Amino acid sequence: MPDANTAGAPALHPDTVAVIAGRPPHTPDQPMSVPVHLTSTYVAGGELEYGRYGNPSWTAFEDTLGALEGGHCVSFASGMAAMAAVLDLVEPGGTVVAPRHSYTGTVAMLKELETKGRVKAVFVDITDIQAVTDASADAAMVWFESPTNPALEVADIPAIVRVAHEHGALAVVDNTFATPLLQRPLEHGADLVVHSATKYISGHSDVVMGAVIAASEELATAVVAHRSLFGATPAPLETFLALRGLRTLPVRLERAQANAQQLVRRLEGHAALEEVRYPGFGAIVSIVVRGGAEPADALVQRTSIWVHATSLGGVESTFERRRRWPLEQPTIPEGLVRLSVGLEHVDDLHRDLLGALDSLIETAP
Ligand SMILES: *Cc1c(COP(=O)(O)O)cnc(C)c1O
Repeated sequence: MPDANTAGAPALHPDTVAVIAGRPPHTPDQPMSVPVHLTSTYVAGGELEYGRYGNPSWTAFEDTLGALEGGHCVSFASGMAAMAAVLDLVEPGGTVVAPRHSYTGTVAMLKELETKGRVKAVFVDITDIQAVTDASADAAMVWFESPTNPALEVADIPAIVRVAHEHGALAVVDNTFATPLLQRPLEHGADLVVHSATKYISGHSDVVMGAVIAASEELATAVVAHRSLFGATPAPLETFLALRGLRTLPVRLERAQANAQQLVRRLEGHAALEEVRYPGFGAIVSIVVRGGAEPADALVQRTSIWVHATSLGGVESTFERRRRWPLEQPTIPEGLVRLSVGLEHVDDLHRDLLGALDSLIETAP
């Protein structure tokens, strides 16, 4: 790929990197895009050998996301597969510190691994640096996401990385919500970044995929070894689609974030809402509906543009009441509805949501 940081040349903007990285060389008859390589094996004697060890469609995606995050990218079949590979770096019985408000799958995986005696999991308030420090005393890994899902708390990434390293622990950041355009944890010293590429990276609600980005070649090699052995490899078509999505991430995120900021301004103070939570960046907003589960469940049934669906980061605006999931933390309010703001016109999004919110007041006893 064209080197984004050629010595002497000014570093390219992420918007440019997203478009130009991971492409074939600019020589006659090279394709513009790396095609979908549907093959299970390769002629022997080269570097690839077999479909579980490598695929040129993966490489194109990995070169691009790796360039954006500033590390070595390894793609996986899902975000959960990427997480499993990273957690496998912890020695048996090692302690993993994680935010109490994490993606529910993260909490479930850590609890499952703890039940099996594989790791010890300690959940903390990630905004409380003293709590993180205390929990990290004998930690092997400090795992965190920021903003947290769905509480939207923001962690002090450099401070947590420092705490982790002081205790000899690996610092891992799930960067799914912010994307490398809004925060690059490796630049703050994190050892590993994890993505559910299902979300903003792919961006069109048509792919399930994950990725790990490692700061060092050594960690990347360990993660690749895990993928080759345990086999959670991404499909070539999905990888192609994820890269196609990644090309437009800068413009998608710009619009989604502008829409989110507008909506937050317009929704604040609405009589049907207790709270509008927004960390100030990104396109995820959490609103807390007055009256708890019942009106929140009604809200998500009363819109025509907003789709009641889990997941996030697609071009389409979606929302859901998070506590409908039994695994969601009890500290998340019953009435919290997480909005994934998409690319529709903000006036249409606002009108649709406002109609549903107003109807809650009209029908209140
Ligand atoms: C969705 C998600 C995951 C899990 O990723 P999958 O692609 O669904 O396996 C992990 N972390 C966060 C923050 C997510 O939103």
